[in-house]
Amino acid sequence: MDYDIIIIGAGPAGISASLYTVRANKKTLVLYEDLSSLEKTHKIENYYGFENGIDGKDLYETGIRQAKNLGVDVKKEEVIKIEMENNTNYRFVVTTSSHSYKSKVVILATGNKKNKPKITGIEKFEGKGVSYCAICDGFFYRNKDVAVIGSGDYAISETNDLINVVKDVTILTNGEKAPDFRADNVKIETRGIKEIIGNDKVEEVELEDGTKIKTDGIFVAQGIAGSSDFAKKLGAITNKDKIVVNEKMETNIEGLYACGDCTGGLLQVCKAVYEGAIAGLESIRKC
Ligand SMILES: Cc1cc2nc3c(=O)[nH]c(=O)nc-3n(C[C@H](O)[C@H](O)[C@H](O)COP(=O)(O)OP(=O)(O)OC[C@H]3O[C@@H](n4cnc5c(N)ncnc54)[C@H](O)[C@@H]3O)c2cc1C
Repeated sequence: MDYDIIIIGAGPAGISASLYTVRANKKTLVLYEDLSSLEKTHKIENYYGFENGIDGKDLYETGIRQAKNLGVDVKKEEVIKIEMENNTNYRFVVTTSSHSYKSKVVILATGNKKNKPKITGIEKFEGKGVSYCAICDGFFYRNKDVAVIGSGDYAISETNDLINVVKDVTILTNGEKAPDFRADNVKIETRGIKEIIGNDKVEEVELEDGTKIKTDGIFVAQGIAGSSDFAKKLGAITNKDKIVVNEKMETNIEGLYACGDCTGGLLQVCKAVYEGAIAGLESIRKC
């Protein structure tokens, strides 16, 4: 289905953006997965207008209901991929675990990055064999063996981007259940990961039981993809996993906006709501 504006994230930033776009008569879709930072918050006492504070989960769910009441399509679907099209009307194709949608504008509002696993060596080898983007870096591993860390739909999507380029892929679920996925050059390993080993670059992954798996590269796709993953794949500028935006919440990619925790700075509801409003208002002009 086609939309004017697709917003990824139903936290304060994404919902705030949608309130402005839908009231400007723009056909708006908000996609979200379960986790918002708000759901981890016991009580918010520093947000305007709640004299006794408000439970984070209640605020999250109220925001979603408010958007729906105003006519926003809000769907609980994990986004696994965003691609650009050479189509003058619809620039973006947004793929979820179950559907594909087109839009003129995308607003990224997925909060703080959460999918970096705590594995010894992962940060040390970033850019030296550890990558967060199969479509960007897969080419460097032509006919080589690589591993993908993860077990969900996002990990499968990354694996699919690699299997026609590299020799073999080992999906390392790091203790999670094996995904229901088969391909000739894909192996699945469910044992836990202890460490990533190498000298100047990644050479092996050591599992918790001491088994060592040789690999030329590792693609991290644990959990769900966040804004910075999507932004990097689309060519947007990021700085330490925060998306770089101007005062209009525009990234350097035409039609791509970002707001809330994913742009860094003050990680608070008030800032997410403000940036969402700006992204919503500014994006209206692009469609
Ligand atoms: C423990 C804790 C306590 C806090 N206390 C306070 C407080 O007292 N006061 C305050 O102002 N702030 C507080 N915060 C911060 C506040 O919760 C955040 O600043 C705010 O929620 C950020 O809003 P956001 O919309 O940018 O992101 P989030 O609220 O994190 O929303 C992210 C949205 O993106 C969706 N999403 C992510 N990835 C995908 C994907 N691949 N596909 C589809 N959807 C996706 C999620 O489902 C969610 O809907 C606290 C945070 C924490 C963790």
